[in-house]
Amino acid sequence: MWSQLADDLFLWRDCCNVYAIRRSDEAVLVDSGTGAVADHLEAIGVRRVAHVLHTHHHRDQCQGSLRLHAAGTALWAPANFADVLEHPHAYKTQCLWYEPIPVDRVLPLSETVFWRGIALTPYAQPGHTRYAACIAFSVDGKRCLAIGDQFVHNYVYANQFALGDYPATVELWRRLAPDRILPGHGPAEDGPAAIARFAAHAQETDDLHARLLPLHEVDLGAGGQAAELYPYHAFPAPGGTVHLRVTARNPLPRDAETRVRLALPNGWRAEPGEAAIAVAARGTGTVTFRLTVGGKAARRARYAVELTVDGRPFGQVEEGFVTVQE
Ligand SMILES: [Zn+2]
Repeated sequence: MWSQLADDLFLWRDCCNVYAIRRSDEAVLVDSGTGAVADHLEAIGVRRVAHVLHTHHHRDQCQGSLRLHAAGTALWAPANFADVLEHPHAYKTQCLWYEPIPVDRVLPLSETVFWRGIALTPYAQPGHTRYAACIAFSVDGKRCLAIGDQFVHNYVYANQFALGDYPATVELWRRLAPDRILPGHGPAEDGPAAIARFAAHAQETDDLHARLLPLHEVDLGAGGQAAELYPYHAFPAPGGTVHLRVTARNPLPRDAETRVRLALPNGWRAEPGEAAIAVAARGTGTVTFRLTVGGKAARRARYAVELTVDGRPFGQVEEGFVTVQE
């Protein structure tokens, strides 16, 4: 059912909130839910959905976009997660939709795009997930901010939540000063009140982690992830190769040589056999491998990333998957 939030702003409640910004008989949607919104456009006088903008890659927000896309709607996504939508298997993160979702236009962060005179600006908003943006726009003289699922206590380690994300969100929201906050679930809220409530918990979230984790000795961030792979799941032909990027973390409070090695199934090989880079204290560095897989088909064959920092072995800190095609 639709709720009318302003003359030209509507909310469709689905598996997530879908917001429709209307101009004449066209609309832009923020997120798409299941896509059922497409069956109810007439009720708000909309003939066609021109674009969908996404707040993040979670399946409750974006699964319906494939249906809208098939009907001629262009899909827009902020630059910090467009690739997640298009290559979901390449990412180790939660709540992915299993099919690739095409992105017709990648929106640079903090840059304004216009649709029928309405300014729409995506800003990076990591926290609930690293791959998220809030979307700022004005409708009927009110500043609105669609925040996806960036709620208090809704941070998720497996979505690459990082310390500092929540305080940065408070800073961003205060700067944008929306009259109205449009969440991905639940009712629309008064901007200043929602920001004050979020701010009351943002720093506390970081402070609790800092008290619980041995960050001064071994800083693996809030989620404890020491290495990340791209692609996380690859699909080469038998005997084929995968160009693998490993982002390794130096968790120590000093600059250090960081060594990465792949532990592979029998008959596979990696070039180089081991990679070493200098990584700043508590920083990350990226190394690449050319991985050559075996000649037999395999489904979700597993390998591991071994990490050694400043001579200190951290063991197998990450796993990746390869499906060798038939
Ligand atoms: Zn979400």
